[in-house]
Amino acid sequence: MTDDDNNDQDIALAGLHLDTLAVRAGIARTMEGEHAEPIFLTSSYVFDNAADAAARFSGTTAGNVYSRYTNPTVRAFEQRIAALEGGEQAVGTASGMAAILSTCMALLKSGDHVVCSRNVFGTTVNLFSKYLAKFGVEVSFVPLLELDQWRDAIRPNTAMLFMETPSNPLCEVADLAAMAELAKASDSLLVVDNCFCTPALQTPLAMGADIVVHSATKYLDGQGRCVGGAVVGSRHHMEEVVTFLRTCGPTMSPFNAWVFLKGLETLRLRMEAHSRSAQELAEWLQQQPAVDKVFYAGLPDHPGHELACRQQSAFGGVLSFTVTGGKQQAWSVIDGVRIMSLTANLGDAKTTIVHPATTTHGRLSEQDRASAGISDNLIRVAVGLEHIDDLKADLQRGLATLG
Ligand SMILES: *Cc1c(COP(=O)(O)O)cnc(C)c1O
Repeated sequence: MTDDDNNDQDIALAGLHLDTLAVRAGIARTMEGEHAEPIFLTSSYVFDNAADAAARFSGTTAGNVYSRYTNPTVRAFEQRIAALEGGEQAVGTASGMAAILSTCMALLKSGDHVVCSRNVFGTTVNLFSKYLAKFGVEVSFVPLLELDQWRDAIRPNTAMLFMETPSNPLCEVADLAAMAELAKASDSLLVVDNCFCTPALQTPLAMGADIVVHSATKYLDGQGRCVGGAVVGSRHHMEEVVTFLRTCGPTMSPFNAWVFLKGLETLRLRMEAHSRSAQELAEWLQQQPAVDKVFYAGLPDHPGHELACRQQSAFGGVLSFTVTGGKQQAWSVIDGVRIMSLTANLGDAKTTIVHPATTTHGRLSEQDRASAGISDNLIRVAVGLEHIDDLKADLQRGLATLG
């Protein structure tokens, strides 16, 4: 495919709704006339002649050379996720962490400073504090919702603000427009991990973010099959990220891209179903005597409720709750369920349940856990697509073990 085809596609897709883009964006049929997107499992491509090879290598002619650089199936995924996020360009990566790493390696340099939310994915914290620090990138961690602390942490060499909203597992909601303003005022990039909402529920670029990163492993796949990621933003920024990926290699596999293309077709339907069930389960949990507190932004008494109503179209599939007691009681509930899977993954058709304090957040110090609100009696549920009555009965079974 050439750049002209890209432009044709841009024109054809202009003004279409998300549901249409989720099914139609990125399609480039071959001469076979296939209706569904093909998987191009090929590592390299054949040139017409020596002159064509030279032209494609030098970049004077567009066209595939090698699948670490470009692959038609991966490109279809990239065009589709770019269209959904409302970004000029996207790039597929081997994992969500590869998306975050590539963004940082491409857009930061030694001597730069990053302000990062303390409430991001644990491995993201490690990436910044353990690896980027090794290459002279400094990072300050601040609480997601404390805008004053973000402002105070910014220095002349601050180049990036990095955040996730809503947060895991307490569903805290940060003001994307306010964060974008802060980034602009400090001449730094706002990078948002949009894993929990996906573009079906929230589009950070439209609210002023510069770059969106994704773990496609979660809701974009939606059925727990493949590991992958994506970075979305302006052509200017993506050019740097693409160059990093082509050089360093954490690219998306064509097979995984094909799975994610399928996932994107049903993204909106799934996100609405996840959100509907999570809302019902959250309301039901609030009425259970053994449950202390429920954390879900769809509940009117959640501190992030109003903001979530403004910047999200639904509240997502992840909720958490505390039970009366401590770790022993939380473990008892988890060990008492029969349907939900005991696994740390989320964004799956299958509901998952986990004890954050001893798994996903187990590496934090007790003090950091306490300040992040991850108490020993906290349980996180990532609501899947099973029937809501069966999920309630399952949690009922778990809660009943508390007597
Ligand atoms: C899982 C996850 C990641 C990392 O993605 P991988 O695909 O596992 O590398 C990053 N951010 C968030 C919010 C996640 O949930």
